[in-house]
Amino acid sequence: MLLPHATQGALKRYSLGFLNGEDQDLIEEHLLICDDCRRALSLVDYCILQMRQTLSEAEFQEQANAIRHGHILMFKPASPAN
Ligand SMILES: [Zn+2]
Repeated sequence: MLLPHATQGALKRYSLGFLNGEDQDLIEEHLLICDDCRRALSLVDYCILQMRQTLSEAEFQEQANAIRHGHILMFKPASPAN
């Protein structure tokens, strides 16, 4: 069975603490079983940390709000098996 992976947008929103309820549960359940998405989340966490350290607080909040309010797919279609 193919598992859909979390999208970059969903991982960004998760990392920024913008997901809650069912959306957060879905991501967390998937992260428990998917090495690829855990690695992707590590990269997202690092990028957001860099963004926080590089931008002013106002600029960071602007970027975070853009991520929060973007129309972002939670999961991307799984790739066909090789
Ligand atoms: Zn995944």
